[in-house]
Amino acid sequence: MPTTHPEPPSITQVRTIKNYVDGDWTAPSSDRLLDVINPADQTVLARVPLSGPEDLEQAVRAARAAFPAWRSRSTIERARWLFSLRQALVDERDELARLVVLEMGKTLADAGAEVDRMIEMVQAATAVPTTMQGRVLENVATNVDCETIRQPVGVCAAIVPFNFPAMVPFWFLPFAVATGNTFVLKPSEQVPLTQNRVFEIIDQLGLPPGVVNLVNGDAEVANAILESPGIDAVSFVGSAPVARHVYATAAAHGKRVQALGGAKNHMVVMPDAVIDRTVEGIITSAFGAAGQRCMAGSVLVTVADAGAALLPPLVAATAQLRVGDGLDPDVAVGPVISCQARARIERAIEAALAEGAELALDGRRRSDDPGAFVGPTILTGVRRGMDVLAHEVFGPVLAIIAAADLAEAIEIVNASPYGNGTSIFTESAAAVRRYRHDVEAGMVGVNIGVAAPVAFFPFSGWKASFFGDLHAHGTDAVDFYTRKKTITSRFFSEQTNATLFGEH
Ligand code: NAD
Repeated sequence: MPTTHPEPPSITQVRTIKNYVDGDWTAPSSDRLLDVINPADQTVLARVPLSGPEDLEQAVRAARAAFPAWRSRSTIERARWLFSLRQALVDERDELARLVVLEMGKTLADAGAEVDRMIEMVQAATAVPTTMQGRVLENVATNVDCETIRQPVGVCAAIVPFNFPAMVPFWFLPFAVATGNTFVLKPSEQVPLTQNRVFEIIDQLGLPPGVVNLVNGDAEVANAILESPGIDAVSFVGSAPVARHVYATAAAHGKRVQALGGAKNHMVVMPDAVIDRTVEGIITSAFGAAGQRCMAGSVLVTVADAGAALLPPLVAATAQLRVGDGLDPDVAVGPVISCQARARIERAIEAALAEGAELALDGRRRSDDPGAFVGPTILTGVRRGMDVLAHEVFGPVLAIIAAADLAEAIEIVNASPYGNGTSIFTESAAAVRRYRHDVEAGMVGVNIGVAAPVAFFPFSGWKASFFGDLHAHGTDAVDFYTRKKTITSRFFSEQTNATLFGEH
């Protein structure tokens, strides 16, 4: 596998990144360190400290101390800070995209699109003077008015996964800060460098110390977040078992919580689908980011004779995808996050073959390949009840199953324990109407392979893909990051001080 990177730096040249607490770069007290590895060539990019509970508490104290003054700033002023953050991120867009490629592996074009969506989140959050408005009704009784206002929740934290190092933290940070909360972010220990750079940018923007804090670490510090008495709300994005644990533990500690979990996204193709555009959509969905998107389509359900027309061009076009380092502009599929992930994905392919699936395309690579590469893999002959339909692989593996009609396709989709996203490819409005009404998933694409997050709309799945009530960003963000306070009021002086108010 060709690589475009120089020799790895010697161990003394590798820098150890820091936490950002109370407006300062701080070395955590813990001496546990982890290498941050470029998945394309296994070079060590940096070392990340794995903070302990005491490091977290330092950040929580800073956030708590900053909260009263930050919530008292005018909403316009908080929005204005977001405008400056937006511009600073626009200026650094290409550099951030490059960092995403280096530590996560997706292609540069994909990473650029991720950073664009991160910036859109900031843009959406600048609408806070409108979105945070309350409601008022005059005369709920004679001369009595009632109003609901929204106030920030307090100190909010987010624990995020490896696959979107730029965007996923920004499903939360801009909206939390816009609504007057203070914030603690724990990035994925596998990809801490993008947010390290983002916080360097934030450091230049004059935000009061303690409003946003960055604490690096693994499960230990994540669990400390769930139990910290100083944290009021937790947002989590990651795998389903951890999402379930986060939801239960944070709620047991009295916190508001939203926990977005894993996925097994199904794409349904009807016989009237426009084949070439559908092939494009399926390939982008199943193999983009090497299948490591929570919205990646990993099961293809072909209805009636759709499979006969679709499979030959799908397999042929997929076989052409170039696998390699994401910085190479000709590469369509980068590495998976680590060699452990590669081994896990290869085991999942073998397990599917053992239960009767067949390989239409085998993406497994030579075992002496140094990068964490798995090529696009297509499995046919998949039948209902097979494990490959139920478990998230989180790699470039597409399982294809046939359904007799739309009703059976919907049954297959809804049998999944997950319900994150799904797509239907068809030109029939009636099929779309039936599908969107009956399908059990939080995000639905119509002739769209990846029903990607749109900043101004809520985003999340259903079933084992989500634990909580309020989804991420869009209108749900203001509900998650504010508490409602209802005030009923009346005044007596109009009756007792007729001289001042006059008669009417
Ligand atoms: P992960 O669950 O391993 O880790 C996510 C975060 O949780 C990391 O910050 C990690 O340090 C922390 N963590 C890990 N184990 C923990 C534990 N036992 N207790 C507390 N914290 C723990 O997920 P990942 O491998 O980083 O990311 C991939 C997963 O994320 C996939 O399942 C993918 O579908 C999912 N994902 C979902 C969405 C969504 O919107 N639903 C979006 C992106 C990714």
